[in-house]
Amino acid sequence: MNSLVTDTVFNWIDNNAVPAADEKTFNKINPATGEILCQVSRSSEKDASAAIASAKMAQPGWASTTPVRRAEILREISIIMRNRQDDLARIVHLETGKSIKDALGEVGAAIEQGFFMAGEGRRFYGKTTTSGMEERTAMTIRVPVGISVLIIAANTPIANVAWKVFPALICGNSAILKPSEDSPMVAWAFAQLAKEAGLPDGVLNIINGYGQEAGAPLVENREVDLVSFTGCTATGRTIAQATSKRLAKVFLELGGKNPLVVCDDADLDNACKWTILSAFSNAGQRCAAASRIIIFDSVYDKFKDMLIKAAEKITVGIEDSNDLGCVINENQLNKMINAVAKSEREGAKVLIGGKRSIAANNSGGYFMEPTLIENVSASADISQKELFGPIATLYRVSGFDEAVDLANDSEYGLTSCIHTKNINMAIEFTRRMKSGVVNVNAGTYGSEPHMPFGGVKNSGNGLREPGTEALDVYCEWKNININILPAK
Ligand code: NAD
Repeated sequence: MNSLVTDTVFNWIDNNAVPAADEKTFNKINPATGEILCQVSRSSEKDASAAIASAKMAQPGWASTTPVRRAEILREISIIMRNRQDDLARIVHLETGKSIKDALGEVGAAIEQGFFMAGEGRRFYGKTTTSGMEERTAMTIRVPVGISVLIIAANTPIANVAWKVFPALICGNSAILKPSEDSPMVAWAFAQLAKEAGLPDGVLNIINGYGQEAGAPLVENREVDLVSFTGCTATGRTIAQATSKRLAKVFLELGGKNPLVVCDDADLDNACKWTILSAFSNAGQRCAAASRIIIFDSVYDKFKDMLIKAAEKITVGIEDSNDLGCVINENQLNKMINAVAKSEREGAKVLIGGKRSIAANNSGGYFMEPTLIENVSASADISQKELFGPIATLYRVSGFDEAVDLANDSEYGLTSCIHTKNINMAIEFTRRMKSGVVNVNAGTYGSEPHMPFGGVKNSGNGLREPGTEALDVYCEWKNININILPAK
């Protein structure tokens, strides 16, 4: 059995490995070492067209395959993934620099997503309704959207594949997956396992490369019926503009700048644990990371000290015993270091971290120290712009109303959390927060395969993934009316 680790990641068209049309490649760097991990096909418009042609050929056959049969194949993919979970986790580890333990957790979540969506094959419910007209039977059924382009980020690479590919396929769409240029290998491994599970040729294709060169031609192609995108808000806006020209369906899962509020009656130990996890786990590379910690005045100093002490204990590295892995590329690391330096010039106080981590054995990798900052205004860039790394800013507020106002003072509305023992304050917070996810006494993250995730404002465009709500991304509703003629 091969390990699925490869030194060349090709495109995947018609269930075959295919180099880019003009045979260009780029280097994928291992972010834990700064060394080349593999070569990756650098695709262009020609490759996008070939993948779309393959998906177009496959779509009618896949759409007419029963949802139950489609589900059997999805279940088989999930079983094979479970059998190969160590291999998949190793790739995630190599591509992202997260520990094997964390990578295994992510692979497990991807597998569960597969099983959940496979279950939908036997629950592919529509609805029937009554009619105002006599002898009329009315029903509404789900039908596939058609050819789907799935564009994803690198932060949780195999979970991101699962969140889009499984619902797209159960609904009868054929797909072209465009993985992040920072995490191409695990998507490629997934496609090979899907073929082994019996997924027909052309139902899932993969185009690798850079966003502008490989992603944009997929988005702009008139044959594409749906673009489902996970990435930053700026790219999402570009994609929405491109798809709007032909009124194609578009689904956007975008950025966040998520607040975690700590009230004066909070269990501070629990709040500290969740703040540290929300700000720093996955090296802060979560759309749902807590990057704004809003603390009631009366517990501010005590809680700040607790956070600093907890952050001091964080160990940086890629072993299972470490708490904080690396960020995905050098550009991202430099962007964060510059953002912290800019905030300092504007008067911010860095409480801990703020620099590249040069802990033992990781000087070649892109490691950022866990960073806590205070003394920043709500309108400062560091308060408003998503950094997508292990950086959180602390704010002092006089009470609940100010906390909620500050929590909502963002272009984003993805997730939020409050720590309090007061049920009224907790419920009031869930009501007043303008975010797609609101948690109480927990972290700002924690989605599960059966729960709809997504944001309001500039964090998304209204649909949700995963959960059964994802079916609404990947299906159209068709209303069918049948007039019954009198029996002769
Ligand atoms: P990004 O927008 O730079 O890239 C995401 C993907 O889009 C990549 O595959 C990239 O190649 C592609 N892309 C870039 N430009 C494109 C273009 N013009 N046309 C088509 N495709 C293009 O995002 P990133 O920096 O890789 O990821 C981090 C962002 O993703 C953060 O903002 C994070 O919050 C967000 N994210 C959101 C969720 C969510 O569920 N809401 C989940 C994970 C990550």
